[in-house]
Amino acid sequence: MPKSVIIKEVGPRDGLQNESAVVPTEDKVELIRRLSDSGLKHIEVSSFVNPKWIPALADASDVFAQIERKDGVLYSALVPNERGLERALTANVDAVNIFMSASESHNRKNINKSIEDTFPVLSPVVKSAKNQGLPVRGYVSTVFGCPYEGKVNIESVLNVSHRLLEMGIDELSLGDTIGVAVPSQVTEVIEKLTTEIPREKIALHFHATYGTAMANIWAGLNSGISIFDAAVGGLGGCPYAPGASGNVATEDVLYMLHRMGIETGVDESKILDTAAWLEKVIGRNVASNMRAVQRGAS
Ligand SMILES: [Zn+2]
Repeated sequence: MPKSVIIKEVGPRDGLQNESAVVPTEDKVELIRRLSDSGLKHIEVSSFVNPKWIPALADASDVFAQIERKDGVLYSALVPNERGLERALTANVDAVNIFMSASESHNRKNINKSIEDTFPVLSPVVKSAKNQGLPVRGYVSTVFGCPYEGKVNIESVLNVSHRLLEMGIDELSLGDTIGVAVPSQVTEVIEKLTTEIPREKIALHFHATYGTAMANIWAGLNSGISIFDAAVGGLGGCPYAPGASGNVATEDVLYMLHRMGIETGVDESKILDTAAWLEKVIGRNVASNMRAVQRGAS
């Protein structure tokens, strides 16, 4: 069990990309300011995917131009291809996140390419980003289940993970895109992957669809994983994964870790305040348990 854990905040990107309300640039900038002030060291700010596909994040360059960067915080962005990388480099991102799926149908829906045809698109992105000295993280979606195919073959997860690592990425984030994973499965997948891939290179990314996200994190911790993605307020979903609900909420993850004596360096009250502030911005209650308790008490 790790003594400390790194939380990678994905709310501004993974969360807001799936909100029906388009959040104004100035509110995004304020969101990043609040998150930077909480002690988080990794914040995924936005996406340089073609704005045609994700209009909610079309202002990525403006957001990067306007945020105040705090020392020691890495401000990353999602990048789909070389064109996106160009925009990201112009915006002076600190780190690059690429993505693909472990299941063929989700990859085709999301990226419009087969898994095999995605590698040649990503490979030059990783190469250029590394040449610029930027850390690169690879998201693997649908690791624990696919909205179209159901069960996902672990061999496919291994294959995609290997190929991405061979390209030179620094870290894999294994995503439960539709939130179907259960703890025993997390243990099984991690045990299988870590026979070939170093544990330190693996992060876990859970969604809250069936209420198993916290138990999945517990399973990940027990398998020695110490990097977890989360989104303030539990924002998010996936437009190409019908029925998928939000990311596990950062404040809920912090609640559990801190009371287990696991350090994160993040101030949970500041994250909770940010979740409360976000409700005014997006015009609805957020899905986190901590925030629900706070609302009930006030
Ligand atoms: Zn997510």
